Amino acid sequence: MAQINQTAYEEILATTKTAQAQLVAVSKTKPNEAIQAFYDLGQRVFGENRVQELVDKYEALPKDIQWHLIGTLQRNKVKYIAPFVSLIHSVDSLKLLAEINKRAAQNDRVIDCLLQFHIAEEASKFGLDLEEARTLLQSEEYNSFRHCRLVGVMGMATFTENETQVRREFEQLHRHLTTLKTEFFADQPSFKECSMGMSGDYRLALEAGSTMVRIGSILFGAR
Ligand SMILES: *Cc1c(COP(=O)(O)O)cnc(C)c1O
Repeated sequence: MAQINQTAYEEILATTKTAQAQLVAVSKTKPNEAIQAFYDLGQRVFGENRVQELVDKYEALPKDIQWHLIGTLQRNKVKYIAPFVSLIHSVDSLKLLAEINKRAAQNDRVIDCLLQFHIAEEASKFGLDLEEARTLLQSEEYNSFRHCRLVGVMGMATFTENETQVRREFEQLHRHLTTLKTEFFADQPSFKECSMGMSGDYRLALEAGSTMVRIGSILFGAR
């Protein structure tokens, strides 16, 4: 029997449900047995950050799992996940989105994506700023894409004990969602997702308007 924290799962599920947010169970580095154990409790949405691992798990596990790609995605690997991925959280360039659009078309699909923003202080965390996002959304190329659909934004806060700072960063990401919605997606109700909050900061994220928390270690144990 895989070691999973069922009590924590039920608590987080209740918390996210109250906030009308979705729980993405981040299963990276964890064995299929642990994922299956959460599946048996009813969880269907799982997040992975490595393409090869995602493909292996997709092949081994039940086909009604919705797989989210939450980590840096290299363009040359999009083709491996295009047949099945349900949401890509980490779009940070027009070139990457163009590749997703192309591979989705080859699979006769429309792939949902989020624009990843750089909201943290740490330079190591990547993502767009608001101006870069506007440039992407205004481009002729983006407006020609028919096989990818942007449904919101994603970001990671600074890894710090300073709750004021984390809260400020989450609020900034949520403002980006509102701004882009007004400027570019006013007629598209599907542009509404704000993917923010991990094991250490998901309560703050939900307070700031998260619609999707990505939680790994509380559920599966430390990596
Ligand atoms: C690993 C990871 C998470 C989950 O982190 P935990 O602290 O284990 O909850 C969330 N988002 C991204 C992008 C990750 O890489």
